[in-house]
Amino acid sequence: MSKRYRMALVWLRRDLRLDDHAAFYHALKLSEAAAPVFVFDAAILDALPRDDRRVDFIHQSVAALKAELNALGGDLLVRHGLPADEIPKLAAQLGADAVFCNRDYEPAARERDAEVARRLSERGIAFHAAKDQAIFDTDEVLTGAGKPFSVFTPYKNAWLKTLTPFHLQAYPVRRYLDALLPRQTEAMPSLADIGFLPSDLSALPVRAGADGAEALFADFASRIGRYKTQRDFPGVKGVSYLSVHLRFGTISIRRLAAYAWHDGGEGAMTWLSELIWRDFYQQVLWHRPDVVGHAFKPEYDALPFPNDADWFAAWREGRTGYPLVDAAMRQLNRSGYMHNRLRMVAASFLVKDLLIDWRWGERYFAEKLLDFDLAANNGGWQWAASTGCDAQPYFRIFNPVSQSEKFDPDGRFIRRYAPELARLPDKLIHAPWQAKPEQLRDCLLIRSGRLGRIPGDPVID
Ligand code: FAD
Repeated sequence: MSKRYRMALVWLRRDLRLDDHAAFYHALKLSEAAAPVFVFDAAILDALPRDDRRVDFIHQSVAALKAELNALGGDLLVRHGLPADEIPKLAAQLGADAVFCNRDYEPAARERDAEVARRLSERGIAFHAAKDQAIFDTDEVLTGAGKPFSVFTPYKNAWLKTLTPFHLQAYPVRRYLDALLPRQTEAMPSLADIGFLPSDLSALPVRAGADGAEALFADFASRIGRYKTQRDFPGVKGVSYLSVHLRFGTISIRRLAAYAWHDGGEGAMTWLSELIWRDFYQQVLWHRPDVVGHAFKPEYDALPFPNDADWFAAWREGRTGYPLVDAAMRQLNRSGYMHNRLRMVAASFLVKDLLIDWRWGERYFAEKLLDFDLAANNGGWQWAASTGCDAQPYFRIFNPVSQSEKFDPDGRFIRRYAPELARLPDKLIHAPWQAKPEQLRDCLLIRSGRLGRIPGDPVID
């Protein structure tokens, strides 16, 4: 049977895998030949520090995918530049008559894609964007009145009601690999070629690439039953740590949601709920791109924030004096990850105790998080600041001491990231200002290196 296209490009972005990949599947199925391409986007990279961990993670994931495709007789073409130049250029070089990609919901990405589509259409090349990074996107889950949801629980109920086995079905890419364009002779640019330095990814033992995602998921699957009871305790290995893989698409959301759905247990269904939060914020961003830089509820946009620069620096550097907040910020600075409970506590503390604009905190997280995702980060910050959809009311403030006593009762997490407090008894570790001077002297001696540290337990190993 003749195919619709002679030659297609599959433009990969935040979907760095081969399995269960919507765009790849459609391209291979509809075209006589298809070649995947990844562009290191200069417009994004130029604004980042040279040792940005995410670039290293992406580079490693791209290299792993290229090696996987090479082993199958195909290739991944890798470019560095502006996609609006590179994609049409490569399409013309290869004689492609179509470009396939997976839909992106971020405003800047939407603009970029519209520009690429425009330039391709000038050359008579088709552009197709598929749903891949969400179970439901755009207008698929709306209220009875046909409006986007702005509160999570009714959204989740409607999401679950709309779900059918079809939505969780994998795209069987490997069945169509005979259409994969054979291996080219191109090497990919090194990290140095694109202007970056290797970074320290070792503080978060999460390996890049689809294999890294599979290993992490296999580990989590063995403890998913305990997720509901353990997910709030940062000192315990209770969550999946899969966010960075979901961010870069080294694992498919359908695979994860299908696993949780078929498991059906309390732990798995609680975890599925978190995956639904992810869809929720992506549809918020799609319908309300103005949430970037602005409160979801416009009446909160003019809130005055004193924005004390010294307090902001203390928060960023993990030296506010509140042990759980400081340990959380040090976890972020050291590893590029922060546990969800701590993101809520640290965000609430910045906005509601230090009275610093949520956008400052949002920006700092965006710089540091390995899993930084505009939709989830903006949603999380606006939730914590009470300016967003589904916000907790402005008068609800997380108490950093009682949160610490409740979610890190034996100080296991604090001891790991604030070792100067390690010798304090459990009761005092949450509020060291209540300790006796001689107990605090030990803390100072540890800090100055004159008293040995008690090493903290690793949280993920
Ligand atoms: P798990 O508990 O194992 O959850 C599984 C997956 O569900 C996550 O990987 C993530 O994809 C999704 N998820 C979980 N909670 C949420 C949520 N509240 N909103 C949206 N998706 C969720 N998540 C990001 O992926 N990127 C961000 O930039 C980000 N910034 C945040 C900022 C703040 C202030 C807050 C309060 C939350 C933020 N989150 C963000 C959501 C959440 O904290 C992380 O997704 C989670 O901690 C990642 O760890 P995990 O993969 O082990 O999560």
